[in-house]
Amino acid sequence: MSRVYNFSAGPAVLPEEVLKEAADEMLDYRGCGMSVMEMSHRSKVYEGIIQDAEADLRSILSIPQNYKVLFLQGGAHQQFAMIPMNLMKNKVADYIVTGQWAKKAYQEAQIFGKANKIASSEDKTFSYIPDCSDLPISPDADYVYICENNTIYGTKFKTLPNTKGKTLVSDVSSCFLSEPMDVTKYGLVYGGVQKNIGPAGVVIVIIREDLITEDTLPGTPTMLKYKTHADANSLYNTPPAYGIYICGKVFKWIQKFGGLEAMKKHNEEKAKILYDYLDESELFKGTVRKEDRSLMNVPFITGNEELDAKFVKESKAAGFENLKGHRSVGGMRASIYNAMPIEGVKALVEFMKKFELENK
Ligand SMILES: *Cc1c(COP(=O)(O)O)cnc(C)c1O
Repeated sequence: MSRVYNFSAGPAVLPEEVLKEAADEMLDYRGCGMSVMEMSHRSKVYEGIIQDAEADLRSILSIPQNYKVLFLQGGAHQQFAMIPMNLMKNKVADYIVTGQWAKKAYQEAQIFGKANKIASSEDKTFSYIPDCSDLPISPDADYVYICENNTIYGTKFKTLPNTKGKTLVSDVSSCFLSEPMDVTKYGLVYGGVQKNIGPAGVVIVIIREDLITEDTLPGTPTMLKYKTHADANSLYNTPPAYGIYICGKVFKWIQKFGGLEAMKKHNEEKAKILYDYLDESELFKGTVRKEDRSLMNVPFITGNEELDAKFVKESKAAGFENLKGHRSVGGMRASIYNAMPIEGVKALVEFMKKFELENK
């Protein structure tokens, strides 16, 4: 068996320890004689799995009692629609567009009501986070929407926008559990888990209870109402049972790691190694305004497309997978989520130094 250093933006690297444990339990989950994939989601055993997962997540994030945790399906994309369907009481919402994912959410919301783009960084290929301290928030906005870590462009909100009292809704897919987060600052925060927490197929929604109502937009299907899932503790229908089980294992791994303060330190240390090199290199450079740099997704370029392609090819041959940048930015992107070991980042930087010497 040989594992590569996988810098994929998602689905992405998971802790080896978690994968090994899952492998050990594959044929016989703790004496049940069956795998978690094969058991009823209504069984006592599975109830224990999903309840533990929720309890561990609540403890990691100190989620207050007046917030519900929902394990749903449909990816982040389904939330682009579920959010307006459930929260757009006045049919008005304000969107801060800092990348493709925020833009898609903004476009989807237009199906349901008046979505206002109140700030954007599209003028410079989303390479920065706009000043959000005094935005023209709509007086009748039901919520203000952000994508907190921009997976494709490699920017992150370091301070949350001033929503002037409006409910903040945030997509944290690619920075979920990478550092501490104050849940009370949000009305709703959600993320697809395939970036930092588990296998694709699960999306976690943390929502303040007063936002969960019967009063959804007309025509909202039962499956797309937060209330349906909140009332049933995420077991209204068959949930993505195996995926939730893996998420639960990752939560335990984070707790063992020392929680989110320790995780943040680990992630800062990793990102610094890469950014410091990008700042001193004469060949490679980062594409993002320094103060807005993400700890999770690090795009970089040489400025020469042929050289970029050569780098991607040679890095792959050397055991560094998925370093090709998103098609809208070009160049390279290293996603260095929680489970990427520091050795992986060090090895990548050594490889980049060698490449720089050879291609001067
Ligand atoms: C990957 C990603 C998405 C899209 O997720 P799907 O699960 O494919 O719908 C949305 N937002 C962010 C921030 C992402 O990183």
